[in-house]
Amino acid sequence: MDLDYLFHYFTQHVERVHAAHGYLSDVRRLASELGIRMRPGLHNSLVWGDPPLITLSAEDYGSRRQFSAMHEVAHLLLKECGAESELLLYFGDLEEAAPAIEGWCNHAAGLLLLPRPLLQAAEAEHGLSAATVLSLQRSGQVSLGAALRRVVYAEPDRRLAAFASTAGRRVSDIAKLNFSVPFWRHDRLPESIPRAAAQQKTFALGEGSEVRGSCLRVPGRGALGLLVAP
Ligand SMILES: [Zn+2]
Repeated sequence: MDLDYLFHYFTQHVERVHAAHGYLSDVRRLASELGIRMRPGLHNSLVWGDPPLITLSAEDYGSRRQFSAMHEVAHLLLKECGAESELLLYFGDLEEAAPAIEGWCNHAAGLLLLPRPLLQAAEAEHGLSAATVLSLQRSGQVSLGAALRRVVYAEPDRRLAAFASTAGRRVSDIAKLNFSVPFWRHDRLPESIPRAAAQQKTFALGEGSEVRGSCLRVPGRGALGLLVAP
């Protein structure tokens, strides 16, 4: 069995279900349309019953709570489309399959909180840039990390990287797709990356390679950048 194929099948399923429910990104409304009950609990979980029940920990609040709730909705979709049992077969047991299951559900939570029409509207306005990430983060009320992952992983053929950094230019979060960049989390950003470039510009990155990128200052945080491979 091909994991890439299964992942594609799962994300298509998520998109299809979401489209059929008008791309609702409010988790309570979406859960109610899907016939899922939600109530507070000791931790975040999905109880597979009739009807399914999502419990949410009181320790999560704000955007974290939204994300946790969507993650549990994603667990239901993963089970429902049969991808979870395929993953269990592939890895042999739950312990081995857990990192993939949790990672896939995080990815799907991003799809559900930042649905395609929202992404397309942000890209139409700001192009493939750091401003698109920031606009998604604000309109979807998600973390910067969720927004940058959504943009980077939106299309499997793109070659992109996005990062957030501290005010001291240390990388606090990064996601990349088909693109190798000479820094990772906790590294300092290379000096060649501009401090602020709202519009995409071309600059050197690493030895002899040039990239296009944009960079924004994020109040109270540091910087946010999006790089596009040549
Ligand atoms: Zn989970």
